[in-house]
Amino acid sequence: MEKIELPYSKYAALKAEGERTAAFNFAAVDNKTNLPAQSPLPAKLENNADVVIIGGGYVGLSTAYHLAEQAKSAGNTLNIVVLEAGKIGSGPSGHSMGHVVGQLEATPDQITKIYGAEMAVKLGAHAETGPALVKNLIEKLELPAGVQQGYLVVGPNGEQQSFNDDSMFGIRPLPYTLGLAQRARELGVKIYENAPVTHVDDANGQTRVTTAHGAFNTKFVVGAGGHGMGQTIPELSALDKNNFTLYASTIISDQIPPQVIKAIMPQAQDGKPQPFANTKIDVGYGSIVDNRIVFGAGIKATDRPPDIERMKRELYEMFPNLPAEYKKATGKDLHFETLVAPKALDFTLDLLPEVGKRGVNDNIYFAHGLSGRGIALGTMLGKSIADDIFARTTNTPNANNVFNDFAQVKHAKTAILKNAAVRAVAVTALTLPDRVNDVKKMVARGRRALHLGR
Ligand SMILES: Cc1cc2nc3c(=O)[nH]c(=O)nc-3n(C[C@H](O)[C@H](O)[C@H](O)COP(=O)(O)OP(=O)(O)OC[C@H]3O[C@@H](n4cnc5c(N)ncnc54)[C@H](O)[C@@H]3O)c2cc1C
Repeated sequence: MEKIELPYSKYAALKAEGERTAAFNFAAVDNKTNLPAQSPLPAKLENNADVVIIGGGYVGLSTAYHLAEQAKSAGNTLNIVVLEAGKIGSGPSGHSMGHVVGQLEATPDQITKIYGAEMAVKLGAHAETGPALVKNLIEKLELPAGVQQGYLVVGPNGEQQSFNDDSMFGIRPLPYTLGLAQRARELGVKIYENAPVTHVDDANGQTRVTTAHGAFNTKFVVGAGGHGMGQTIPELSALDKNNFTLYASTIISDQIPPQVIKAIMPQAQDGKPQPFANTKIDVGYGSIVDNRIVFGAGIKATDRPPDIERMKRELYEMFPNLPAEYKKATGKDLHFETLVAPKALDFTLDLLPEVGKRGVNDNIYFAHGLSGRGIALGTMLGKSIADDIFARTTNTPNANNVFNDFAQVKHAKTAILKNAAVRAVAVTALTLPDRVNDVKKMVARGRRALHLGR
């Protein structure tokens, strides 16, 4: 396996004078190197492919890697292409908080109410397999994704409870994303950046995917463009009817002396920092990377810049002794700045992902609306698409029923929520009562129920 070289970030700790290191990689904030996943874009794309994947986030890259890996293991050759509108890692997947959580954003009670208990059990059981899949990939593929073991839950009065059961942990999202892309590329997947797809035509048994640089005729298409894919590809606009956009951002602190981190997180196991979250409705959640706190709180209906002072207040509610401990150690006040300016999150009204296939031959797959749970869920759904396509290319049964189970969900249309103001009110009203109950239950079980909720 090739070494995964990561892009430089201005938050990277310098190992020695003048030496660049990519230790900090939440976001390619100052990316001066070519990403390892990048393939030069040919002057003209005009080819036949077996599978064209639109979008290089968790879903698209997991599909690409797993499909290529299965084909290789079976001694088959599949011509797999990923077309990414921007750069790999430049979308939400490269900028998430990195919390890997094996729960759906919809609670079991919510799913039971709408779709019945059987569905709640099935989907919940599938979701629980996500973190192990992510962790196995990181280990097997030697991705430099910096797993942070455990999870720290902070209650309303600052009381801390640390969990270490592998169902929740932290990773660095950008190296995970880039690493998956590189491993897929090593298996022969062609990854083209700056190649936005403009059309997907499906007629007369022929499917054609068009970009400004040319087109592919293909047997299968995977629509993994996340938020807004339906707006950029007119033929897929129907896919945009059941999802809507909310925005999340994060802030980052100056470096904090290790003794301060130990003082604010006494419950963290072995004194190592853990990813953390509170149990409030307007959830605050964060990670400590290279002695900096990365923190996010709440999600918004608009892409207004983050309110850093409000976020700091949320953080200090969780760790009340942080400002004083920092000042004692450094003589200064702790400073924060924006790390991730508001990025779109793709939600559905029932907080379950939208998964399915369409097209004349059911050969256009999609999985989006991950509702803030993209790492575990997106990786798992990407694999489930790969399994389904592979079974069809080899005329073998698909033993993995994840794709079919999620495709059973009949989502309500959210057209009214395309308006940001309506969305702000409706989302709260629709989800709040269940969430209050849910938080109570989850706290009782010592679990985190809400990850990115209002
Ligand atoms: C600040 C923040 C914090 C978050 N924290 C967490 C967290 O801690 N844990 C967690 O699990 N999730 C978290 N999320 C959510 C997570 O990032 C998303 O759920 C996930 O990235 C969605 O993955 P995806 O593959 O569906 O789509 P994306 O990551 O959106 O990738 C889709 C890609 O498709 C490309 N694309 C779109 N249209 C086209 C087109 N027409 N042609 C070609 N390419 C196209 C886009 O450029 C994009 O790169 C967070 C998100 C944000 C913004």
